[in-house]
Amino acid sequence: MTFQDLNLNTPLYNAIDDLGFTTPTPIQAQSFNVVASGKDVVGIAQTGTGKTFAYMLPILRNLKYSTQDNPRVLVLVPTRELVVQVVEEIEKLSKYINNRVLGVYGGTNINTQKRTVAQGLDILVATPGRLYDLAVSRVLQLKSIQKLVIDEVDVMLDLGFRHQLMNIFDILPQRRQNIMFSATMTDDVDALITDFFINPTKVSIAVSGTPLENISQERYSIPNFYTKVNLLENLLKDKETYSKVLIFVAYKRMADRLFDELEERFYGESCVIHSNKTQNYRLRSIEQFESGEHRILIATDVMARGLDIDNITHVINFDTPLYPENYMHRIGRTGRAEKEGHAIVFSTEMEQEPLEAIEHLMQMKISLLQIPDSVLISNELIEEERPQLKERYNPLKRKDEDAPGPAFHEKKDKNKKSNQGGSYRREVAKKYKKPRTRGDKNYNKRNKRK
Ligand code: AMP
Repeated sequence: MTFQDLNLNTPLYNAIDDLGFTTPTPIQAQSFNVVASGKDVVGIAQTGTGKTFAYMLPILRNLKYSTQDNPRVLVLVPTRELVVQVVEEIEKLSKYINNRVLGVYGGTNINTQKRTVAQGLDILVATPGRLYDLAVSRVLQLKSIQKLVIDEVDVMLDLGFRHQLMNIFDILPQRRQNIMFSATMTDDVDALITDFFINPTKVSIAVSGTPLENISQERYSIPNFYTKVNLLENLLKDKETYSKVLIFVAYKRMADRLFDELEERFYGESCVIHSNKTQNYRLRSIEQFESGEHRILIATDVMARGLDIDNITHVINFDTPLYPENYMHRIGRTGRAEKEGHAIVFSTEMEQEPLEAIEHLMQMKISLLQIPDSVLISNELIEEERPQLKERYNPLKRKDEDAPGPAFHEKKDKNKKSNQGGSYRREVAKKYKKPRTRGDKNYNKRNKRK
């Protein structure tokens, strides 16, 4: 397939020519018609696959020239770095198109941004918090948004932006196209799609179902959390073989819980990363693991993405990932650079179904190992495993338990104000003593008399 097969227009063809791109990447080829059709779309693709163009090409193709001031396309991304990157990509494609693109993010002067917004724009790229601040200040009008793109939505949810997204959905026009891109499918992403998307079309670049040949794969069938911990202890005792071990768990709370258990057994040998840890903590953990200071790293799926650490001897799936693609991503962390890698997966009875999905994707069976006799089979159950909790595998339940806590910092005074509604009018009234309503001509007189 070439770009000629996509129904682009001359300005876009010229921009792509200038960039020297010849063929669309798989996600671009797959997304173009779906995004162009105006339907809701969920794309599963990682950074580096050309996903930004995958949604921007069809959007730019259909965006008519307009002189209206309010933006028509809104792209939400989790970090300021991504705002910059996405704006750059859009500008590359817009070389021969007359459109106005603006990137906004927090931590910068909002007044400068307000002035730029007031000059009019077509495409706005933003982090959720700053977008919301601009919208409530009324400088930014969202009533003309036709297309909402949420990029890296898995990271966004993992950083605790769900509420911010809800608030933004509330002030967007009902009639709009939702386009979402995520590198991994998680329970949170799934829930968001179910709640807010209308019958979306899913496009994903087929994750290669063929695992690398140099990764051996084995599995244990195991009844519960504590038995998993006992088995893990048994394996990790062999420090020479298990010299650099990446352990995956499904959610943050489980990561912390497992970390505590391992600290009791192998004090000072583990570290943990998930999104409730500070950036510094995460960086330090990764450094310590990379340098060999700690031989065990516990991580959640989203956090381990993009981790490029050499010589990982074993990837242990402490739980069986619900989405088979995630299993492929996880085990790909070992066996890099032609080195021999080992992947082990623990599955309870409840995890049989996802296990089968993984085997189906790979078109192969993972060999089953017997739990060594020396491993104690525990009867103790953790909260989620106890029978009275009927909903223990309810993804919504799990999400709640794992919900991010309150913000790390005290709110600034100005943010503590409660919303009394109509702030714009109140401000104008205070400043100019203008009538509260157009019809209320006696308002000023009345107030003077007071
Ligand atoms: P992304 O996945 O959107 O972060 O894009 C990764 C990089 O690939 C960016 O630097 C793009 O400019 C580049 N890129 C996007 N589409 C293509 C293509 N069809 N051919 C070659 N490079 C591309």
